[in-house]
This record gives sequence, C-alpha cells and structure tokens, in this order.
Amino acid sequence: MTCDFHALANQGIQGLHPYQAGKPTDELERELGISNIVKLASNENPLGMSPLALAAIEKATSELTRYPDSNGFYLKQALADKYGLTAEQFTLGNGSNDVLDLIARVFVSSEHEVVFSQHAFVVYPIVTQAIGAKAVVVPAKDWGHDLDAMAEAITDKTRLVFIANPNNPTGTFLSSDALYGFMQKVPENVVVVLDEAYYEYLSEDEQAPSTSWLAQFSNLVITRTFSKAYGLAGLRVGYAISSPEIADLLNRLRQPFNVNSLSLVAAVAALKDQQYLQQSIALNQQGLLLLSQFFKQNAISYIPSKGNFISFLAPSGDAQELYQQLLHKGVIVRPVGPYQMPGYLRVSIGTEQENQTFIKALSQLIGSI
Ligand SMILES: *Cc1c(COP(=O)(O)O)cnc(C)c1O
Repeated sequence: MTCDFHALANQGIQGLHPYQAGKPTDELERELGISNIVKLASNENPLGMSPLALAAIEKATSELTRYPDSNGFYLKQALADKYGLTAEQFTLGNGSNDVLDLIARVFVSSEHEVVFSQHAFVVYPIVTQAIGAKAVVVPAKDWGHDLDAMAEAITDKTRLVFIANPNNPTGTFLSSDALYGFMQKVPENVVVVLDEAYYEYLSEDEQAPSTSWLAQFSNLVITRTFSKAYGLAGLRVGYAISSPEIADLLNRLRQPFNVNSLSLVAAVAALKDQQYLQQSIALNQQGLLLLSQFFKQNAISYIPSKGNFISFLAPSGDAQELYQQLLHKGVIVRPVGPYQMPGYLRVSIGTEQENQTFIKALSQLIGSI
C-alpha cells in the first residue's frame, strides 16, 4: 500500500513546477568536462564581491557559533540612514524573493486575485500559485507592463499587484510618471509591490523617487536586493520598504533568523562601498552597449534593456538548440521559454572579457565569423 502524497499536498502546491535556476558552472564542468566556463545566466555582478564586504565577512566568521541578530538591527539602521526613513519601515529577507513570498502570504488567500504582467518575474506566479490564489496575467505591451490594462484588471478580489521595474527577463522599464499615475488609480486596499531589484542600474533621472511616495501611498511596498548591483547574490539578502504597519505584519510571518550573520555584516559593508557600486554600474553600461551593438550589427533581434542582462531572439528561432550549442562552447545563458518568450535567450552582462567570449561563441554559431 502506498500513499498518494501528491493528492495530499495543498492544491496550489500540486500545480507548481520547480523553479529553473541558471545552470551552475560546476554542473556544466561535470557534464561536459570543459573548463573556463563563462556563466551569464543569473544576472549576477561579474566584478566579484566588494572588498569591504569580504573583509566584514572574514571578521564575522568567529561569531558563527551564535545565532544572527534576528532583527537585523545594524542593517536596518544603515538602510534607514541611506533612505532617510525609519528602521521600522524595513523588512529583511533571505533575498528579496523571501520578502516577495512573505508579502503574498500575509495579504493573499485562495479566494483572492493577484495582478501582474505577462513576461514578468517568475516568482510572482510561483507565490500566487503556492497560495492557490488566482493569477491575473495582463498581456504585455511592447514586452513591458501595460499599466493602464493592469489598473483595469483590478477587481474587488484583487489583494496584490506585482510590478517589476526594470522587469526581468525583458529589461523593460516604466517611467516615474507612469508609475505615479498608476499608484493614484489603485484602490488603497490593494497592495502594490514595486520590485526594484535592478534600480541601481538606472540612471539618476530614470530612477523613480519611489521611497518618497511611501508617505502618500500606504499600500505601496518597495523591494530591493543586494543580489544584483551590490554583488552578494550567494549570500541571499534583500528587503522590503513599506509603512511600519505593513512591515510589522511581514515581520510576524518572517522566519526569525532568515538572514544569516555573514549576510547581515556584508550588506552593511556593501552599502558603504560606493566605489564598487559605481564601478559595477559603469561596467554594466559598457557591456549593455557592447552587446546591443553586436546584436544590431548581426541583425539579431533583442529587447533593449535597462537591467544587467539582455533578452535576444535565437536567429534560428530555436532557443533550446542555441542554448545547448553555447553550453558546448562553455557559455551559460538562460532560455526564457517559461516566460512566454519562445525563441528567446537571456544573457547577463559580464566582464569585458566574458562579454567578448559570449560574442565570439555566438558569432561562430551563427556563422558571422
Ligand atoms: C533577481 C531578481 C530579484 C531578486 O532576487 P533575490 O536574489 O532573491 O534578491 C527580484 N526581482 C527580480 C525581478 C529579479 O530579477
């Protein structure tokens, strides 16, 4: 007699599929026996960690026998100082994915609806499905969020709206005016999550003054992360910025030690390293330009991006085949078929050398050299 555990699982969980992460370098090494692999699959910062963050981690290793500070006092204080807000407005997460999940579980149950855009970040459908709530997926406009249509999709059942700006994997971007106009239309009892994982890569005039809107819109929750421009993806630290009331609710559900000791000190140090941040941004701009020009020159269709990655159309239309061929040349990119983008691959911006390796491999495969 065997038990059908699948049937016992919560209904939302039964419909879930495991998250497909970018292929790890050592996995490809094991599978194909090749070295000098270039991984441009997960939008990580190619510069390596800030030396200040590394030094902070080394210093903190002697304390690893102790539990972390469950309230993340110093990191919240550092964030509050950075933004001119109060520590009570911050919720720390094991990556911002953790806080995205918390927000959904705090506000949404199976009878509710969650609104997000077609081609939007994959975690939104995952957390919605896990709860068993209804995902209202609004068709994209020019690959990006159609905010007018999203506002119209809000009903009495809507509890949550997810907006990624810039969005991953399309790299599309919404202006400050468009976002502000949207916030004005959304009923106060609908929580709007503005996911700004790639905020730092925007130029100053493109960056929405979203934190200043918190005073006006009590239903706004902003999420940011140390995984991208701050280069700490492996440590898993992200955070939400909201009203103290919403932060208090998130904090009730949050696992007490969801951010570990090394991540806490590294994040505080990373915030201080403006030089590293500026270098990362400059490197990304050069890489975006290089790859965009390459795609243009080779008539490869791509989606102009404001993030640290670009999605492009496999010239043959067969993204899986091109993905495999690139793997054999030691270059890992990311197929984005699951985002309703058949034929597309996403490449993260690497170092100058990594970008050149990608360009060379792709050129060989499409026969342009
Ligand atoms: C990468 C990413 C995140 C953040 O991931 P964490 O590593 O969990 O902080 C959040 N939103 C989007 C759109 C992303 O691409």
